[in-house]
Amino acid sequence: MNSILQSKLPNVGTTIFTVMSGLATEYGAINLSQGFPDFGSDEALSELVYTYMKKGMNQYAPMPGIMPLRERIAEKTEALYGYRLNPDTEITVTSGATEALYAAIAAIVRQGDEVIVPEPCYDSYIPAIELNGGTIVPVALPAPDFHINREALAAAISPRTRALIINTPHNPTGAVMSAEDMQWLENLLADTDIFLISDEVYEHIIFSGTHESALKYPRLAERSFVISSFGKTFHVTGWKVGYAVAPAPLMREFRKVHQFLTFSTATPLQYAIADYLKQPEKYLHVPAFYQEKRDKFCALMQETRFRFTPSEGTYFQLADYSAISDEADTDFAVRLTKEIGVATVPVSVFYGQPKQEHLLRFCFAKTDQTLERAVERLAKL
Ligand code: PMP
Ligand code: GLN
Repeated sequence: MNSILQSKLPNVGTTIFTVMSGLATEYGAINLSQGFPDFGSDEALSELVYTYMKKGMNQYAPMPGIMPLRERIAEKTEALYGYRLNPDTEITVTSGATEALYAAIAAIVRQGDEVIVPEPCYDSYIPAIELNGGTIVPVALPAPDFHINREALAAAISPRTRALIINTPHNPTGAVMSAEDMQWLENLLADTDIFLISDEVYEHIIFSGTHESALKYPRLAERSFVISSFGKTFHVTGWKVGYAVAPAPLMREFRKVHQFLTFSTATPLQYAIADYLKQPEKYLHVPAFYQEKRDKFCALMQETRFRFTPSEGTYFQLADYSAISDEADTDFAVRLTKEIGVATVPVSVFYGQPKQEHLLRFCFAKTDQTLERAVERLAKL
């Protein structure tokens, strides 16, 4: 059968997050690679899940998500971004943002369509576009600050451009798009038929300015799928509960994909999150919580030979290791895991065509003790 099995994703291996976390376990290294907190989430949130399980909320949820959760999402979106959503037709709860990204891409990308993707980028975008017959048009986010390069982005547009994917705050670089960037983008796309997929999973993990959701810009919102994830916001990445919002005609197509990808998302988790969202302080304190972690990690890293500019958002910090080694980043990351006992993610893997910048990504969603132990090891380099 192997001879007739022609891979649809010949260039895709196992995702770097699985590879590096696996290596961390194998070598007993401190894991600052895959993005997840090593501290607990709010017990009150877990109690709510159990409460709803005991109440019998254990069967399929409605395909677009339970209505109370969609209503809370609508309230939160209006309060934060001034955009009023119809919970009935414009919000779908998904099994993580990864599913939402895939469903949005599958809903709009046709054979031969071009999709503009600023790089480096989160690793699910490119395979999702390829599986749907699209062509990736990469646009480099230039080091050292990785902010959008407006000329390059404008130049990437062609008559075949179907969509643009943005991600702010940005994984892996921690860069944040400004209000000026968003206004510029709004004007750039105004006279086109280009859809926007705006990955905003780190909307509450931001330290520089305010989060500029595409929903704050009416002429962007009318062409956008905006995607978020409760996994990041409430420290429960393993729950895989996310959502997408979009104008009704776009959401209709999105749901056609979603209903056959997963149909629906874990019911008791949805009820628990809906209840928890009644307390906005639970997400409003998240930026300060993570800023303290970023500041702690950056202060510790001053004792090492890594060079960096503090991240503007996300729970990731990039650091340049060229003062330590000229190895390729994948080799260096593996050696660091095996010999020094700290696992990270090499940044070259976030490009379609790997690019060598001598950068590693560190996840600082960790306890102070984990961060201190890790940097103690890194300081030996
Ligand atoms: N987009 C970005 C930029 C991410 O970093 C992640 C986190 N893994 C996701 C999407 C996917 O989120 P989820 O875990 O909710 O699927
Ligand atoms: N988003 C997380 C990261 O960037 C991991 C997601 C995953 O493991 N699939 O590390």
